[in-house]
Amino acid sequence: MRVFSIPMRTRFRGITQREGVLIQGPAGWGEFSPFAEYGPAECARWLAAAREAAYEEWPEPLRDRIPVNVTVPAVGPERAHELAAASGCRTAKVKVAERGQDECDDMARVEAVRDALGPGGKVRVDVNGGWDVDTAARMIRALDRFDLEYVEQPCATLEELARVRRRVDVPVAADESIRRAEDPLKVSAAEAADVAVIKVQPLGGVRPALRVAEACGLPVVVSSAVETSVGLAAGLALAAALPELPFACGLATLSLLEGDVVGDPLVPEDGAIAVRRPAVDEAALGRVEAADGGWRRRVAAAQEHLEAPPVIGAAGR
Ligand SMILES: [Mg+2]
Repeated sequence: MRVFSIPMRTRFRGITQREGVLIQGPAGWGEFSPFAEYGPAECARWLAAAREAAYEEWPEPLRDRIPVNVTVPAVGPERAHELAAASGCRTAKVKVAERGQDECDDMARVEAVRDALGPGGKVRVDVNGGWDVDTAARMIRALDRFDLEYVEQPCATLEELARVRRRVDVPVAADESIRRAEDPLKVSAAEAADVAVIKVQPLGGVRPALRVAEACGLPVVVSSAVETSVGLAAGLALAAALPELPFACGLATLSLLEGDVVGDPLVPEDGAIAVRRPAVDEAALGRVEAADGGWRRRVAAAQEHLEAPPVIGAAGR
């Protein structure tokens, strides 16, 4: 068990250091990096994902490259244009509804990104639940001037997502509404979204996430939990194993971190990441290795819950 702590290039979820644990087993390395506020029961799924990576086989890949999106934060239009153009990605996810900014900022940013990608590129927006239903309906129609692929989590609750979805033509994706294995099933039952954003660690591993994706019946976008290349490799394995992959995935997140634990990090080339599992490099890990900081205790506490919560909830299989 090795603890890492990597500075973030930009503050994310209020954190400036990405921390976690790498666990080595016969199958390879696994990453356990739940956020600080998560309790042991929730952490158990993240630990199950690390255990799967270390001790079990991932499913057979059906593809060898995963198209990914560039993420454009709530920056000004010129910087947004630069980021999208320089990324090499054909899909951009643009953050909107940032606190302290107004709707003109969002319009200008999305317009700049559309301009950078050209008519053949895909532009999605991520609202992180920041709009009410009326604002969402109005803003989605306005932003769709720039031809939106989909709108991610326009409102906070499932019920609001369902209402927005009935009022606009742009597909709706659920992200924050999906944090547990039973959530995608609730999202599809509530007819609250057209697309499910799925992450490996919160769902307990590649195989459980694959079962959840199948059970919810929605097209899936695989995203990272801002992991090192060890965690990202599990996301790639999931994206590679899905029967259909109609959207670019949110796995190009290594650029948010100032370091990594492998020698050849999982970064995109020409808008896609090759499906592979890079080995942990002692020198790279050595540069970001940290003292225990309570991680051994967090792993032990999560371990106690590992058998208890079912990976798929009562609504699933
Ligand atoms: Mg999101």
